[in-house]
Amino acid sequence: MRSSRKTWYILLLLIFSTFLVSCTSNAKPVEKETYLMGTVIQFKVYGKNAEKATEEAVKRVSQIEKKMSVNIETSEVSKLNAKAGVSGEKLSADTYSVIEKSIKYSNLTGGALDATIEPIVKLWGIGTDKERVPSKTEINEKLKLVDYKNIILDKKNSTIKLGRTNQAIDLGAIAKGYTADEVKKVLLKNKISSAIINLGGNVYALGNKPDGTNWNIGVQNPLSTRGEYLGTISVSDKSIVTSGNYERFFIKDGIRYHHIFDPKNGYPAEKGLISTTIVSDKSIDGDALSTSTYILGLDKGLKLIESIKGVEAIFITSDKKIYVTEGLKGSFDLTNKEFTYEKGR
Ligand code: ADP
Ligand code: MG
Repeated sequence: MRSSRKTWYILLLLIFSTFLVSCTSNAKPVEKETYLMGTVIQFKVYGKNAEKATEEAVKRVSQIEKKMSVNIETSEVSKLNAKAGVSGEKLSADTYSVIEKSIKYSNLTGGALDATIEPIVKLWGIGTDKERVPSKTEINEKLKLVDYKNIILDKKNSTIKLGRTNQAIDLGAIAKGYTADEVKKVLLKNKISSAIINLGGNVYALGNKPDGTNWNIGVQNPLSTRGEYLGTISVSDKSIVTSGNYERFFIKDGIRYHHIFDPKNGYPAEKGLISTTIVSDKSIDGDALSTSTYILGLDKGLKLIESIKGVEAIFITSDKKIYVTEGLKGSFDLTNKEFTYEKGR
């Protein structure tokens, strides 16, 4: 009798310790960092299927890049651009839906977001070995080609045509957001309930931390060259996207020229903002809105965000003031005291 009870104890102890070991090994995430879509992408994925899920997610990112990158000659977007003014290009559901969404945001932002900005992007060449400050004449010449109203949609045939020769589309302001949403789908399909995805500043915090508490996502200090955080946002299951003038830029004669262009004048947008962060459910919305509010500036940007349900924002001005929309006030923690938190407006 006694010895059988002892056996039971030992057995229970064994089961319990195996359980503990498996818990701790599950708690260790799969971490992967790679370079795709012109940026560093990082995954931190928890759970039993993390290895397989991460592998599939990387494949999905690469697949979307091959369809949407203007730097890949065989991409759908490059083919569409090559036929501008001539004929339309049949597109996959991925590319079609991203262009469609981009037009939706062009309409919503009075043209601040405009996928036909490509000729301006190429002219400035920021981040390439051809970067330079073009002349006003050159800028005005290319600016004539920028008009999202010339994107002709044929939904039935999944075909899109650019109305005029030399027009071209660039999905850089929105494609990473779409990709983050697609990566989330891949992770959910693999029953992942806890992960952090970072596609060069497009962050998706999936579910909660493995211990059930919220994720704390750092907001980059736009004035720091070393990528320090100025505060954190506590979230669960949200997209956090930041656009800033520190992402891609060059300095000429003491002036910083960055990669977010104002379609009204063809110059890098200068409306007093140096960083815009959008917190939303869908990353494609966050990506479109972080770029467009950067271009719209503080007042119009805040007004726009406040008019959209379920979307919140953090705007940072060049004079180090931080504006946070109502719904985020309890979850944003400012840690860098050089910046001042603007409570009201
Ligand atoms: P990041 O690529 O750093 O995450 P954004 O999401 O803000 O930044 O997108 C910036 C990119 O979007 C630029 O590199 C360019 O390709 C494109 N772009 C720049 N200005 C506009 C604009 N007004 N409308 C649409 N796309 C733009
Ligand atoms: Mg964007």
